[in-house]
Amino acid sequence: MLPSHWLDKPYYSLDAYCKQRFHQKVYKIALDGGLTCPNRDGTLDTRGCIFCSSRGSGDFAVKSMNSVAQQLEAGRAMFGKKKTGTLFIAYFQAYTNTYGKIEYLSQIYEEALRQPYIVGISIATRPDCLPPEILDLLSSLKEKYPEKEIWVELGLQTIHSSTSVYIRRGYPLCVFEQAVEELSKRSIPIVVHVILGLPGETHEMMLETVSYLNRFPIFGIKLQLLHVLKDTDLAANYLKGEFQTLEKEEYMDLLIRCLKKLSPEIVIHRLTGDGPKELLIAPLWSLYKRDFFNALHNHLRKSGEYQGQEYF
Ligand code: SF4
Repeated sequence: MLPSHWLDKPYYSLDAYCKQRFHQKVYKIALDGGLTCPNRDGTLDTRGCIFCSSRGSGDFAVKSMNSVAQQLEAGRAMFGKKKTGTLFIAYFQAYTNTYGKIEYLSQIYEEALRQPYIVGISIATRPDCLPPEILDLLSSLKEKYPEKEIWVELGLQTIHSSTSVYIRRGYPLCVFEQAVEELSKRSIPIVVHVILGLPGETHEMMLETVSYLNRFPIFGIKLQLLHVLKDTDLAANYLKGEFQTLEKEEYMDLLIRCLKKLSPEIVIHRLTGDGPKELLIAPLWSLYKRDFFNALHNHLRKSGEYQGQEYF
């Protein structure tokens, strides 16, 4: 029998987590804090990760010329039209959201945390951008806002060094492990980003990345289908015919295998990802997200497969 706190899904979704934690559906408002990234400003590289769009993977974030409070209001107004819930998570999405002056970071995080309708912040960053003063800032915010959640999202993508070099990730795996240790010591929930379908990776390699994460006390995972976006170096390689993206059926099969391997304690924050329509080159089937989810849930219902089924 599936755990009751999964609320009838065959995996532990973020939606189920939020409904129990906040007693209603909670949406994320994507923000652009006006930061940059060491992989773009020349500190490590100027080209960025090979798949990253010019907006630092924050293509759905509200534009950065506005303050965080203004972006949140704009985001809330957009959701308001859809008659969703009244509570939100502020998602610092674009670029590296711990890569800035501590005073500025403190100011933008608090600007979000102070809003009564914001139940938490989620900070997307790189594991090599978490120096002690940032970790201390996060700990102090946890104390100051005990009723709110503070999550850190780490872009790991893969555990395989050959792929990490290809995508120009710019840090070795031990840096990820160190960041997980430091965040865990401070009881800061960690969400890990993994990309499925990176060039040169077999299904087994991707499953190894997912299984590896079971060793750590992580709160959540984002399983992201590889998207090829316009004006990236990945797109240039794709258009040269160097690799293919995953087909829908192949992705579904792989995703289910990943879910089965994954600890049932880990909350699933994402199962496909969104490629902005105007930038997406491939795979175009991913634009029809609802179709994919319907097919996935139908398949899981019929097959009886579930998260953690092969987790031992
Ligand atoms: S670390 Fe993030 S923002 Fe920086 S280039 Fe890579 S994906 Fe883009």
